[in-house]
Amino acid sequence: MARTVTLIPGDGIGPEISDATVRILAATGADLVWDRQLGGMAAVTAAGNPMPDETLASIGRTGLALKGPLETPVGGGYRSVNVALRKEFDLYANVRPACTIVPGGRFENVDIVLIRENTQGLYSGIEHYIKIGADDRAAAESVALITRDGSERVIRYAFEYAITRGRKKLTLVHKANILKYSQGLFLEVGKELAREYEGRVQFEERIVDAMAMHLVLRPEQFDMIVTTNLFGDILSDEIAGLIGGLGLAPGANIGRRAMIFEAVHGTAPDIAGQGVANPGALILAACMMLHELGDRNGAQRVRQALIDTIRSQGVLTRDMGGTATTEEFTDAVIERLG
Ligand code: NAD
Repeated sequence: MARTVTLIPGDGIGPEISDATVRILAATGADLVWDRQLGGMAAVTAAGNPMPDETLASIGRTGLALKGPLETPVGGGYRSVNVALRKEFDLYANVRPACTIVPGGRFENVDIVLIRENTQGLYSGIEHYIKIGADDRAAAESVALITRDGSERVIRYAFEYAITRGRKKLTLVHKANILKYSQGLFLEVGKELAREYEGRVQFEERIVDAMAMHLVLRPEQFDMIVTTNLFGDILSDEIAGLIGGLGLAPGANIGRRAMIFEAVHGTAPDIAGQGVANPGALILAACMMLHELGDRNGAQRVRQALIDTIRSQGVLTRDMGGTATTEEFTDAVIERLG
């Protein structure tokens, strides 16, 4: 039976890489129906709202979305739609796999899945200014909220992910030496769960600053990482850098009611509309989606065709050192699907 997926092409290069991804999935024969919806600046222009009710209703119905990058104004303007979507659908786990695909980079054998708590910590949105004397904004306070339940569900998700994907080791990253309450609670829950999963998944803990260093020294030693929101945001980009940048970094936002799959990179305004963007990250996000839908074979076929296209070095987009357009690269992937 056909599965309906909400498609939010997004801003900047979003429509270009979304078209490429939809073409590739169609070529696999995946039985998907796309419910196209607006989000971000495209939605502001068309409907005066970066996250229209129709888009939210669509995700509510389908429980599944593939999303291009959305523009977030810096400083003023509307709040991040990505953050709002995570809140609206309680998408508590952000899954970011990073695997060496382009050979000849700094590291040949990186294969790390980072799972980031996606709704709490410093991204809880609990912020205010403090007035001192005549200055209304003399200080600012952001609350890093961590709950036992919130920690448990994301760490348990990471353990379960490890088991179902045959992963061996989970590294919990924290700063409990300084933030003894919030980070301490996250670590405490992690240690409790580690006892439950003992013998099935190896568990270790690392302090975030040391982890940042170990990742650039010897990333091959890490398998899966689970961490709080801000640390996960930063470390996942660092890990993307280890495999050659954001062009090939997919992400999934997982909740109980909905899942949203996306490219980790932004709207790339500097190359938008030129037809030269690398659609790889969104294609890999679509593979994660196929996997979640139970189409492991389809996911693997697309992934392998993408890897083969890149490794053959013949048809590469500019960011990977080639001259191919998005369309030429997409055609090459489709050709390799067989
Ligand atoms: P960016 O990721 O858009 O661009 C950084 C650099 O990487 C640019 O030089 C860009 O050309 C290049 N790049 C990114 N993706 C590429 C691709 N697929 N192919 C080739 N080159 C690529 O980051 P930014 O410039 O900091 O952000 C631009 C906008 O995107 C901002 O409005 C930001 O808020 C938004 N953003 C959205 C998301 C999201 O929706 N998930 C994520 C990050 C940033």
